[in-house]
Amino acid sequence: MLNNYLAFNLTNIYAACLCRLSVKQIMETRKIEILVKLKRRSIFRKYFLITFVSFLILGCNKRNEAAKTTQLPIAPPVDRFKELKIIDVHNHDASDNKYLSSFSLWNKYSINKVVLFGDVSEPPAIITDEIAWQAYKAYPNKFYPFFSGFNLHDSTCLNSIKNQLEKGYFGLGEVVANSTNSPVVSKVAWKGFHAMDGYLPEIYKLIAKYKAPILLHIDPVDEYQIKLLDSALTVNPQTNIILGHANAYSDPKALENLLIKHKNFYYDFFAGFNAYNPERKYNLIDFVEIANKYPDQFLISSDSGYGITYEQAYSAIHQFLNLISSDEIVAKIASGNFERLMDARKNAIK
Ligand SMILES: [Zn+2]
Repeated sequence: MLNNYLAFNLTNIYAACLCRLSVKQIMETRKIEILVKLKRRSIFRKYFLITFVSFLILGCNKRNEAAKTTQLPIAPPVDRFKELKIIDVHNHDASDNKYLSSFSLWNKYSINKVVLFGDVSEPPAIITDEIAWQAYKAYPNKFYPFFSGFNLHDSTCLNSIKNQLEKGYFGLGEVVANSTNSPVVSKVAWKGFHAMDGYLPEIYKLIAKYKAPILLHIDPVDEYQIKLLDSALTVNPQTNIILGHANAYSDPKALENLLIKHKNFYYDFFAGFNAYNPERKYNLIDFVEIANKYPDQFLISSDSGYGITYEQAYSAIHQFLNLISSDEIVAKIASGNFERLMDARKNAIK
């Protein structure tokens, strides 16, 4: 401080000599210059501080956005469900025999049984249908084998469906009634264009006799598709139709009219989508009301973690069920509703 003061005065005397001004005049001028400099510095500091703080806030927000989408932690299994027996009603693990490496994850998340199939509505599905059947033969208490290796535009599909049901498959799926947006499913060779397309009307009638449910893939679930699904359900009240991943890209109330009108309509809730998929518009909590309102028509699934990780899909099932306070409703959604469908199917086989 003292050094600064001495330097300040010596500089002023030197300046006075050069400009032939009085030391007093020079000191006054220098004081003004310094005050202006100090003022400028304080304005600069203020702006610097504001910019720095804004940067920090923006940075945090961006990090929070990222956390919301990709870095959500996998919640561990919920203790409340240790003894629960969950049925995953939509699983593609027959493809490449993936099911062989899934048992430890199923044990971790109390997944007692799995509806197993592989590829969908295209020729390679014939092979994965067989893999699902062999898995069932090896682990009859673990799997419900479904099949989808038939061309719904070809009349011979009716015969092959009959044969598969006589053999003992529990249901049909995942059958592509329509796909427009899915990058994978929209390209399959045997897809339909709506729920009443091709031989689907005859298929519904045939499978009602066997009490075999059909799991449909429909994307997008728009007004037109809902209208044709409504027709399929109305004309075939004895056929149980499950809409696969009905919640994905859907408003929680989009299918409420179908749930009210048709007791043969089942809602496959792919919990992982609304917990972890970055494209979700709604969160798990947004679907609790509709699940509580129609507890007899809700089913739950992993869709083998499509678009997310496999473990996220199971963690999300626990998270969703844990949002439902009634243990009775949890039991229905976790397994009771699907067991009821399978009991009917088993009685039809006898
Ligand atoms: Zn699927």
